[in-house]
Amino acid sequence: MEPINDENENDYKVVIVGCGPNGSVMGNLLGLYGIKTLIIESSDHLNTVPRAAHLDDEAIRILQFIGLDKIVLKNSFPLDVQFNRYNSKKTFLNIKNTETEFGHPRSIFWYQPQFEQILADGLKRYQDNVVDVWLGHQVNDYHYEKSSKSNLINVTENANGQSKSIKCKYIIGADGGNSSIRKSMGSKFSGESGAMRWLVVDAILDADHPEMNGSFQFVCDPASPMLTLPIPCGHFRWEFVVANDKTAEQLESVENVSEMVRKAGADPTKMTVVRKAAYTFQNRISDYWYDGNSVFLIGDAAHCLPPFLGMGVSSGMRDSFNLAWKIKLALSSNSTRTLNSNLVLNQRSLFESYMTERRQEVELIGKKSTIVGEMIMSTSLYITIMRDLLIYMLLLFPFVQTIFANKEMKPIVPIDYHGSLVDRQHLVDKQKQLDNVPPTGIKRLDDSGIVRQIILTLMILLHTIKSFFSSSSSSNAHKNKIGFRIPQPNVTSQGATVDLLDNVLGLGFSCIIVNADKDTYDQIDVDSPIWSLLNTTFVNINDDSDEKVMMHHSKQEKVKSFTLSNQDHKKSFHQFICSDNTTTTTTETTVIIVRPDKHVYGIYKGVNDISTITHSLQSTFCINSTNREN
Ligand SMILES: Cc1cc2nc3c(=O)[nH]c(=O)nc-3n(C[C@H](O)[C@H](O)[C@H](O)COP(=O)(O)OP(=O)(O)OC[C@H]3O[C@@H](n4cnc5c(N)ncnc54)[C@H](O)[C@@H]3O)c2cc1C
Repeated sequence: MEPINDENENDYKVVIVGCGPNGSVMGNLLGLYGIKTLIIESSDHLNTVPRAAHLDDEAIRILQFIGLDKIVLKNSFPLDVQFNRYNSKKTFLNIKNTETEFGHPRSIFWYQPQFEQILADGLKRYQDNVVDVWLGHQVNDYHYEKSSKSNLINVTENANGQSKSIKCKYIIGADGGNSSIRKSMGSKFSGESGAMRWLVVDAILDADHPEMNGSFQFVCDPASPMLTLPIPCGHFRWEFVVANDKTAEQLESVENVSEMVRKAGADPTKMTVVRKAAYTFQNRISDYWYDGNSVFLIGDAAHCLPPFLGMGVSSGMRDSFNLAWKIKLALSSNSTRTLNSNLVLNQRSLFESYMTERRQEVELIGKKSTIVGEMIMSTSLYITIMRDLLIYMLLLFPFVQTIFANKEMKPIVPIDYHGSLVDRQHLVDKQKQLDNVPPTGIKRLDDSGIVRQIILTLMILLHTIKSFFSSSSSSNAHKNKIGFRIPQPNVTSQGATVDLLDNVLGLGFSCIIVNADKDTYDQIDVDSPIWSLLNTTFVNINDDSDEKVMMHHSKQEKVKSFTLSNQDHKKSFHQFICSDNTTTTTTETTVIIVRPDKHVYGIYKGVNDISTITHSLQSTFCINSTNREN
């Protein structure tokens, strides 16, 4: 894609502060969108410490969007999640790592320095005048210059101490948990530190080291709770719950580390320890992720999450995916090449939606992760007996076992709050009740000890079972899916190669039409300028025979036609768009509007519904627009 240039083409449109995984992912997204970007990293090299190790299916989907999924998948592996009463013994729950509705493994494990190198290599695809990376440069401060409507960033080069001033339109703080950009915004980092202390040990095992547990293992033994996992590049990791009365030096001493790994069934003489760190996890969220003008926070700068669900980097990647297309849209609508005088983008609501849409999910992950940590890693004998009894009784029912074995551990929430950029006029009543419930701060239950643990355990179990059975078959049921991420089935075009849906959707919005009839394209008004403002790809998903409808239609050159190539995928796709787990297919004409970050903007059925789409998009994204362009 060509770079977008407006005022001065030599100025950067975006400066990303920090080249950790989230700064790099954002750089790849902006590069793909052709936005002139500079990434500034204070370190002289990429981080060589293995820290995070896990990505979920939706994060892999983002890698697919930036064309790096295959190489990351090749250098990572999926693991089952095992809950064991003792180390590698008495497994009471095993969550299989199957492929999910998003078209990728539920989770993969990788070696962070290698992952960061892949992302950095990805940036090189845009190094010709689109994305520059400056390692060894420290961002000191910035200020907004009203006259030029730009930010001026003060940067020092480590090697020679020289200062430079960089001009840009937008700043993205991807500068980690101690973010100086967040501090400059004046935002508090609200939340708490975890009650338990942990010791993390990463080692490269010698070739003759005895075989270790090959799953991501939670050891729920009150005498020595821990989690263990193999990591690519020959690494193995232990995270031990440790006593509060020892200093970090004592915990990280060679003797203590050797003793801990020996007790965990490993041989300390047949490994090289590459990282050992005593820490207390954080569950903190920045009060603001956007300064109301031109500065944003992503990743750890916006939120530090407890590690138990492994969602740190995946959540940061979702921040980038949510924000990148909004920046692209704002810049495109400023560009003289795409400006349409009848449509004026509502930039304020566009950018304010970023935190509104992301914060709730991150808060829930933080809460659930804390609960999982406390519940699974408890050191109290009484609590663990009660917990295990409860889980044991529930798992006597085979259907509960099936639910847990196939269920996401992370919370999945739709972005349907007041201020979200979805078709809120179409939300069903149940969702509208959330209108006045803004994303809340982090709250903890007041109950303590055993009561708290039991309540927490029950809450998780009941929530999981309830969400599994929630489906609806009312005529409005399809609207339940507004704000969720759309599944990603395999599609094929007239017998050609099978591909994943996103690969045919393009970079902007998508208008997916299922079972089109001859009038559908007039009803959605494919020539309306709102579609070009949103850089929309039209995709027709029909059975083979129905493609003939397209062949005779005058708008056919705008629409790509596909069929769902796999019966299972077809079934789950139709279940999603009908929001009904008993449906196997639908013959009704259905239009799904999907945002670039794969969230469903709206699902429409029937002439009356479908005819409202362009008006809805205009009122969500534009100000002073006429209801309908003629
Ligand atoms: C010590 C440590 C241990 C961790 N261990 C684990 C773990 O065991 N498991 C797990 O799941 N997660 C772990 N994490 C969390 C995980 O690494 C993060 O969630 C992830 O790296 C966040 O990515 P990020 O890009 O948002 O921030 P970071 O990876 O922190 O990257 C921020 C980058 O910004 C740069 N920077 C900061 N300030 C400036 C400035 N003023 N100018 C220019 N550049 C700047 C920094 O040098 C850094 O490279 C750990 C984090 C840390 C810090």
